[in-house]
Amino acid sequence: LFDGIFCYNTTMNKVNYQLEMDKVIKELQSQKRTPTLLLHCCCAPCATHCLTTLSPYFKLTTYFFNPNIFPDTEYEQRKNELERLVKSIDSVNKIKQLTAEYNPQDFFELAKGVENAPEGGERCVKCFYARLKSTAQKAREGGYEYITTTLTISPLKNAQLINEIGEQVAKEEGVKWLPTDFKKQNGYLNSIKLSEQYELYRQNYCGCVFSQQNQK
Ligand code: SF4
Repeated sequence: LFDGIFCYNTTMNKVNYQLEMDKVIKELQSQKRTPTLLLHCCCAPCATHCLTTLSPYFKLTTYFFNPNIFPDTEYEQRKNELERLVKSIDSVNKIKQLTAEYNPQDFFELAKGVENAPEGGERCVKCFYARLKSTAQKAREGGYEYITTTLTISPLKNAQLINEIGEQVAKEEGVKWLPTDFKKQNGYLNSIKLSEQYELYRQNYCGCVFSQQNQK
């Protein structure tokens, strides 16, 4: 799962992934289709805007696969908050949920040798790859047509890189990648508003122990 090829050239061919998503949705509407989509979710606050944006156009299932989150109490809290959000959020099509097993040891294995990489560096590339690869595998096994992730809503994360990894793993597993840049068109601000509305817990670090230490 964690053996991706970590060579992404994100300085070339800047793509507006928000516009790419709009094109896919427009095409689906012209075909009058509402396909299935497995949405990798990192946490409830990031999921808010993504779920309200996608639910009119897709039959959504959230997928909580985040072995990076540390410690286990934090993992439980983020998982529970996502479950609570999915049950209470206003959505056009009913949203289903999938939660993977929590194996934090897998994350520590992948982070070996890159523990001290800066946020956004090599450790994060591996972390993104692992989470999106698992999403693509689950989608293939479950017969989902599309996959994507909430991760592009963060202004601190490289949307180009996340989309390139997503395209790669989708191709590897024979599913379709929905390009996104959820932070655009005030998406990030909307996620903050919706998090307040649903009274969600908002963490102050990305997730892994290394990002937690950087907050101190
Ligand atoms: S900082 Fe965030 S994206 Fe990077 S390795 Fe840690 S949890 Fe993963």
